[in-house]
Amino acid sequence: MVHEPTAPQPCARESGSISARAYLDVPYAEKDAAKALGARWDPAARRWYDPCPPSAGLQRWAARAEVPELLPGEDRAFGSGLFVDLVPASCWFTNVRSCVSSVDWARLRRPVLSRARHRCEACGNGEDRRARRWLEVHERWHYDEPGGVQALRRLICLCSPCHLVTHFGYANVTGRTDEAFAHLRRVTGMNQPQAWRHVHDAEQVWLRRSEQVWELDLGMLTGAGIAVRRPEPAEQRLAVAEEALRRADPPATRSARGHSA
Ligand SMILES: [Zn+2]
Repeated sequence: MVHEPTAPQPCARESGSISARAYLDVPYAEKDAAKALGARWDPAARRWYDPCPPSAGLQRWAARAEVPELLPGEDRAFGSGLFVDLVPASCWFTNVRSCVSSVDWARLRRPVLSRARHRCEACGNGEDRRARRWLEVHERWHYDEPGGVQALRRLICLCSPCHLVTHFGYANVTGRTDEAFAHLRRVTGMNQPQAWRHVHDAEQVWLRRSEQVWELDLGMLTGAGIAVRRPEPAEQRLAVAEEALRRADPPATRSARGHSA
C-alpha cells in the first residue's frame, strides 16, 4: 500500500475552532480519487482524513459510526491458525466484499487490523512492501450442513501468503501451488506427507459441501449496522459457480495430484 505521509494542508478555517480533522472511510481502490479531492493520510492512525471539514468532495467518504472491534456474535477463537479452507462451489461468488459497499468494507477492515495489532493472526508477520506482503481480511464461516446455512462467525487478519494458503484453490488456478504449499509447511511445521494429507482432506470437505446449496447468515454484520446487499438466490449462485467450474478444474484436485508424488 503506497501512502505518502503528507503535512496537513492549509485550511481557510485553520484559525477557527471548526477546523478539527475529520477521519474518512476511504476504500483502498478509491484512495487516489480521495487524495485528488484533498484527503490527507494520517500515518499514525493509518487513515485518510478531511483537513478542512466538511469538504463537499469528500462527503461520500465521511466516517459513520465506528464498527465495534468485536462484532455481534463474533467468536475470535473460531477457526484459529492456518489451514486450507476451501469455499464450497455454490458460495464462490458471495463473499462479504460482494455483499457490502466498498465504504462499509473499509469500515470493517480497520478494526479487524487494529485489534490484531497489524499482524497476521496466523503467522504473526506484518506488512512488508518490499516482500509484497499485505494484510487482508478473511471470513471464517461455520457450515451447518443439515440446515444448509453458512454463517459468518469471525473476521480474521491474515497476511497475503497465509490468505493464499487458505484459498488453496485460488493458488492452484493462478500457478502458485508450490508457493502456497511451502508457506503452509513453514507456518504449521507439517512435513510434506502431513501437508499433502491436510490439502487432500480439505478437498474432500470441499467436494461434499459443494454438493449442497447454502443460505448465507450475515447476522454478525447486520447486527453491527452494516447494510448487506441481498446476494443472488442460492440456486442462481450454483449455476454461476458451475459455469466457473467448466472453465477451470476443481481447485483442490490438482493440488492433491501435484503433491502426491
Ligand atoms: Zn501470515
